[in-house]
Amino acid sequence: MRNHKGITRRQFLGSLAVASAGLSLGDTALAEEEPKRYAKLHDSTKCIGCKRCMSACKRWNKLKVDRFEELTDRETDLTGHTWVVVNLTRDIKNGEDLSYLHWACQHCQKPACAGACPVKAIRKMPEGPVVIDEKKCIGCRYCYQSCPYKVPRFDFGKRITRKCTMCYDRIPIVKPACVAGCPVGALDFGLRKDVLLQAKKRVETVGGYLLGEYEAGGTDFLTILKTKPEDIGLVVAPKKVVSEDLDKIRITSSGFLGAGVLVGLMYIYSRTGEGE
Ligand code: SF4
Ligand code: SF4
Ligand code: SF4
Repeated sequence: MRNHKGITRRQFLGSLAVASAGLSLGDTALAEEEPKRYAKLHDSTKCIGCKRCMSACKRWNKLKVDRFEELTDRETDLTGHTWVVVNLTRDIKNGEDLSYLHWACQHCQKPACAGACPVKAIRKMPEGPVVIDEKKCIGCRYCYQSCPYKVPRFDFGKRITRKCTMCYDRIPIVKPACVAGCPVGALDFGLRKDVLLQAKKRVETVGGYLLGEYEAGGTDFLTILKTKPEDIGLVVAPKKVVSEDLDKIRITSSGFLGAGVLVGLMYIYSRTGEGE
């Protein structure tokens, strides 16, 4: 597979290992220094809905392609093998078409999904990405339940939960695959402080709403919307930081099975079920 710069994933990963200790598990020299927080930006006022970002994500992450999902007029939802979707948003009051929205994990600064995971398979890297360790995940879907945006989805083939990784296996040396694949510059990536400044200036110029500066306690995926999120039917995450401890208490006390028993059952289920 070749990326946008004509190098294969294998070549890229090789050079990544040499050029840098990598960001991959956050235990690198970079992570030990003053953490540098990165962010991805989607400007829906520039997006033309071509879905090349979706294709680029599938290629880089070797995800299964569904037959019709990349047709530009097809509305699609996130799945275990579709980590970003692009759909046309409409004003819920009058049905007027507004803009295309590139939608994926918001990479929350205090991720509720990580707090809810009973086996600690999810963690926030100092550089920004929230990543699920697929070797630890037992497919219990507590992360899905706790996520304000319902992002992590179950992969019926792998029996685990999967989502956008912010391309932690290539940033910051190369931009995320979706960002690199956008032909009109509707996606961008950089240090969060720079991306935030750029996004605010854009909103001052063209109007609209900046999603992610405060929602869910602030996120490392920012989106410039043409209007307020509630006007297009988007879930509005609370601006206060979600309490990871509260999530754990809620989850371990819910249901009639103890969390330990439940985790054991989910593990057995995740390993024995038939895939798609
Ligand atoms: S959007 Fe959901 S899955 Fe993504 S980091 Fe936030 S809580 Fe986790
Ligand atoms: S950042 Fe990477 S994993 Fe996330 S949607 Fe873009 S290409 Fe896919
Ligand atoms: S590649 Fe760019 S313009 Fe095309 S759908 Fe994705 S964000 Fe929009």
